[in-house]
Amino acid sequence: MCIRISDTGICPYCITKNLIKNGFTKNKKQQFYCKSCHKRCIDYYSYKACKRNTNAKIIQFIKEGLGIRSIARVLQIATTTILKRIITIAKKIPNPIFYSNKVYEVDEMRCYLKRKDKPIWIVYAIERKTK
Ligand SMILES: [Zn+2]
Repeated sequence: MCIRISDTGICPYCITKNLIKNGFTKNKKQQFYCKSCHKRCIDYYSYKACKRNTNAKIIQFIKEGLGIRSIARVLQIATTTILKRIITIAKKIPNPIFYSNKVYEVDEMRCYLKRKDKPIWIVYAIERKTK
């Protein structure tokens, strides 16, 4: 089901009714401008990656162990979109807090990206009891 902004008149970012019309996009969709948060949005999005819960679904599918292409097939969006979203999701993850009185299992993996003289180290630590 598609809820159009022209029907509700509510900004999807700040949930206020301060929207004004702001011309049309290349695809002849009405564009709106919010006077409160100064962001633009269009009447409705055709591409399924623009839905609000897409990032949550990507996180859920990665936890289930699905690959990039299978996530793209299930959500019906492009694989490059999945990769870009994973990078943005990963940048928002805060650094973990390590406590000195707990026991951790640490493992490392050495790999390289494009050049073998610039190795990348991936280190992960799992707290033994809570995992
Ligand atoms: Zn707004």
